[in-house]
Amino acid sequence: MTEAAGEKAFETREFQAEVKQVLDIVVNSLYTDREIFLRELISNAADALEKLRYESLTNQTVEDKELPLEITIEADDKEHTVTITDSGIGMTKDELIENLGTIAHSGSKTLVQQLADADRKDLSLIGQFGVGFYAAFMVAKKIRVLSKSYQAGAAGWEWASDGIGSYTIGPAEGLTRGTKIILELKDDAYEFAGTETIKRIIRQYSSFVSFPITVNGEKVNTIQAIWTRNKNEITEEEYNEFYKFIANAYDEPLFRLHFSADAPLAINALLFVPKHNFERFGFGRMEPGVNLYCRKVLIQQQAENILPEWLRFVKGVVDSEDIPLNISRETMQDSALVARLRRAITGRFLRFLNEQAKNSPDKYAEFWQTFGIFIKEGLTTDFTHRDDLAKLLRFESSATEGKLTSLAEYIERMPEGQKEIYYINGPTREIIEAGPYLEAFRARNLEVIYTHEPVDDFVLSNLMEYQEKKLVSADQAELELAALEDSSGAEPLDSEMVQALAGWLKDTLGDRVSEVKESKRLVESPAVILNQDSMMTSSMQRVMQAVNKDLGAMGMGKKVLEINTRHALIKRLAALREKDADFAKTAAEQIYDNALISAGLMADPRGIVERMYQILERALD
Ligand code: ADP
Ligand code: MG
Repeated sequence: MTEAAGEKAFETREFQAEVKQVLDIVVNSLYTDREIFLRELISNAADALEKLRYESLTNQTVEDKELPLEITIEADDKEHTVTITDSGIGMTKDELIENLGTIAHSGSKTLVQQLADADRKDLSLIGQFGVGFYAAFMVAKKIRVLSKSYQAGAAGWEWASDGIGSYTIGPAEGLTRGTKIILELKDDAYEFAGTETIKRIIRQYSSFVSFPITVNGEKVNTIQAIWTRNKNEITEEEYNEFYKFIANAYDEPLFRLHFSADAPLAINALLFVPKHNFERFGFGRMEPGVNLYCRKVLIQQQAENILPEWLRFVKGVVDSEDIPLNISRETMQDSALVARLRRAITGRFLRFLNEQAKNSPDKYAEFWQTFGIFIKEGLTTDFTHRDDLAKLLRFESSATEGKLTSLAEYIERMPEGQKEIYYINGPTREIIEAGPYLEAFRARNLEVIYTHEPVDDFVLSNLMEYQEKKLVSADQAELELAALEDSSGAEPLDSEMVQALAGWLKDTLGDRVSEVKESKRLVESPAVILNQDSMMTSSMQRVMQAVNKDLGAMGMGKKVLEINTRHALIKRLAALREKDADFAKTAAEQIYDNALISAGLMADPRGIVERMYQILERALD
């Protein structure tokens, strides 16, 4: 601790526990790509400058208003120090404590875990974890941060730490607005005080920073708003570098859309779809990824309303001359102009995805795999783009083994006379095809879409129809299918017997079913459970049962038991009922439970096992 003589009161403070863990990982491990620390510090400096630029547009009282907005780097290879200075927004004492001593991130526990598990390559993601500053401890044995906030009358502060357990904080004299970060390099990191090394790193990672960067007095970056340039003049490499810069990414994007429009609004946009979906890794909700500019001036970083929430995985830049420079976050939210901008960009982006689906189906399949969930989110939460979103849906089906189909392609394959689109949910193709619902469709040569995610049924029942064809779950009771020629040769029970058997089954099963009736659809199975409530498909019930284990089958919408009156088992049951009512009851209950299990719903296992023993006993007699 640097307890200076006199009034200078430095206090020592502990890092928050999660920060200690992050530092422990950063300080004690060996990394091959330590140079990313510079990119993280420059990115923080650029953020601070962007914020300052924005404040000076909207706020009159900015300290040291005449300071140029720039980033200055001094490398001293004799003293082995690197100093990075920005004239950005700066930090007050409280902000230093908050920003450099704690992790604001909501999922900070998950984050520490992920960092700890990360291999060398993944540690380069440290910036995406929202803890980029600490990367500097990979190369520095001590870091001093001198900062003065832009707020009128703010005092200067010095924060210092060796990255182990605690830091000190105290007043600092003679600072101008902004932040100066002084790194005392570790013995094995002296190379980073080399001017050439630093210039190379900046060219590699930070060439799109929109403020001048100087290294020992020499300017190293050329500032360019790539999105305003002519498409034909931009190379693939420039695009990719820009993506890496803006998305804080180390790989290339999956898709890129660069477009401009003049009417109804002047828009210049450069949008990217990343390769990975970070929400899947358990980081919680992503922040919006698009920055809003007006004539190359950043209005808002990660602007919230410029794209709908469900496009939060998209990274990039939107520049529009029609947006007022001093628009605030609050006005952004309910501005009609912003809403029009959002509609225009979203529509264009969805059309782009649809083109990609046609022109590069394999790449689109990759997109669908990674980001399909966001399209589904859009479909259930946003009606504005419903038709364009529905075009993007892809599913497996009984007709497309190993491939995905769109709803439009399904309709093209429909035989004449088919009026509905059928779908059925199940965890895998094998399970669906072994289940009781498909046989009726197979026998009639009708294609059925396979949905594998529990959310799919919700999406499809919400969508209700596509190109005027109703979407119908194959486990619905109200389904009208064409009558089938029976090829088995088996006679059905006569209608009197059926009536009597159905009535008896209803009495025997009581509340467990709302109705028992003769099936027109079954071919191989003796019985099947169907749903009367069209919103409540079996997969929705599986979700509900998983949440609430005590929910009985009847707790979840009305169930119809359909029986196959050509099936030997059902015929024998009709006869047995008159001879041995007790055993017939056992058999009926077992048939019902089997039908539940085939539907993927939970039945009471104890009852089933007990009954099976009774039945086996008879069978082995
Ligand atoms: P992130 O940049 O993702 O928020 P960092 O660990 O890089 O995470 O930085 C933490 C916070 O510290 C930043 O959000 C910012 O508020 C503050 N900060 C870091 N560097 C600077 C700087 N040069 N000027 C002003 N604030 C800064
Ligand atoms: Mg950062």
